[in-house]
Amino acid sequence: MDHSAKKNNKKRVAIVGGGLVGALNASFFAKRGFAVTIFESREDIRCAKVVKGRSINLALSHRGRQALKHIGIEEKIVSMGIPMHARMIHSLNGKQSPIPYGKKGQYILSVDRANLNKELLSVAEAYPNTKLNFNHKLLDWSPETGAMTFHGPDGNEKEFHADLIVGCDGAFSATRKQFLRRSRFNYSQTYIPHGYLELTIPPRNGDFAMKPNFLHIWPRHTFMMIALPNLDKTFTCTLFMPFEDFEKITTGNELLGFFQKNFPDSIPLIGVDALMRDFFRLPAQALVWVTCSPYHVLDSCVLMGDAAHAMVPFYGQGMNAGFEDCIVFNEIMDQFNEDFAAVLPEYTRVRAPDDQAMAELAMYNYVEMRSHVNSRYFLFRKFLDNTLHFVMPKTIIPLYTMITFTRTRYRQAVIQWQWQNKVITHGLWIFGTMSIVGAAYLLLKYGPKKPHITAEQLWNRVLALKWLQN
Ligand code: FAD
Repeated sequence: MDHSAKKNNKKRVAIVGGGLVGALNASFFAKRGFAVTIFESREDIRCAKVVKGRSINLALSHRGRQALKHIGIEEKIVSMGIPMHARMIHSLNGKQSPIPYGKKGQYILSVDRANLNKELLSVAEAYPNTKLNFNHKLLDWSPETGAMTFHGPDGNEKEFHADLIVGCDGAFSATRKQFLRRSRFNYSQTYIPHGYLELTIPPRNGDFAMKPNFLHIWPRHTFMMIALPNLDKTFTCTLFMPFEDFEKITTGNELLGFFQKNFPDSIPLIGVDALMRDFFRLPAQALVWVTCSPYHVLDSCVLMGDAAHAMVPFYGQGMNAGFEDCIVFNEIMDQFNEDFAAVLPEYTRVRAPDDQAMAELAMYNYVEMRSHVNSRYFLFRKFLDNTLHFVMPKTIIPLYTMITFTRTRYRQAVIQWQWQNKVITHGLWIFGTMSIVGAAYLLLKYGPKKPHITAEQLWNRVLALKWLQN
């Protein structure tokens, strides 16, 4: 390890996992002067021929951008992304309707996962106090001594020591295993019944086959397909569906029938041959939701990113939340003068409830994306929320705006959203009731006139009727 930092009394920080969050975090710690070493189990993706991993592209938004800004690469990454200003809803009949994400000028960015990861590794590597170790898989570590055991590139076990271990090794974190052995560690792991599979829409006549500045959605109630644009003018489509439905499709004909029934407009875009080839190439991937707390052990180890809070991808916040973890930790480091014994518990206290709130919202948004976007009430509420936000920009802020375009704490955003919902629903009730009462009053006052008749006249008419009947 680099001993220069030891000489200037800077502590040694080991980052386990050189994925998106780990690679970013390395720069955050390096900027502070710590002696940073990344240990990544895969080979260096900057040299790899095939990059294995999850989704090809991701939606980057405000929180993630703020973190990139901190290490000086926001502009570069933004220039390599494609802005998506609105959702584009594809109906069964092929009709396309946009639903904007926010105000004019607000957008999320489709970025290439592998490219972002490569850039982050290069930025981290440029610090003289950072060292990158690829093909190093963490096997175990000791909270008491800070000793870590890795499976090294030569197949042998290697031991390293650090003052702080930062577990950024993803949803199935090996760092977290040590936490599970400790008392009072809460942990839950849930696989949702849905899986995902990726398909590609190639360019058409050298250009995008659909409008590029949108996140395209085919919502079909119990399942959905989405498509994000890539710089090479392709779209990556992701089909999210219950595993039991994936399993029902076993032949090319069944697949074609399924697409003709549910996504007919996408068939000519993907191409029948490519659809058949790509759909059966790999099995659908599982989606896991992990929550845990605390995020730290003593003053020696802390979890960030998916290792602490893997969430389902339906709010496009997993990476953004992981990137924001790095900002929050950094802010707390300022507050507590880099004293790990104070920083780590404070980080758990501040951040765990926020990540938990975001993970729950991500589950909620799955229903919204695949089902609610079809409903008139949803469209009406989006319109109403946006109008109220325009009139009272500080009082009513749409939930999506708070999550995606601000750094409002996730939990605070949920609390504010619940309050707004109450106020707007009450407002709608009062408005509805007043409209009915008002309409009834106007009808009575100005509606067709009833013939005026006195009680005596009425009695006389009854007597006359009786006399006639006799
Ligand atoms: P990972 O990206 O999983 O990286 C972990 C790293 O640790 C890997 O490089 C791995 O090789 C390494 N590692 C693992 N074990 C060890 C070990 N024992 N020793 C050493 N190294 C190890 N988020 C968004 O914000 N926007 C989106 O649009 C979005 N879309 C998504 C779509 C899909 C289909 C999925 C599945 C997720 C999506 N996400 C999105 C979530 C996002 O991918 C994750 O939140 C993000 O990758 C988390 O980064 P991470 O670095 O914490 O973990």
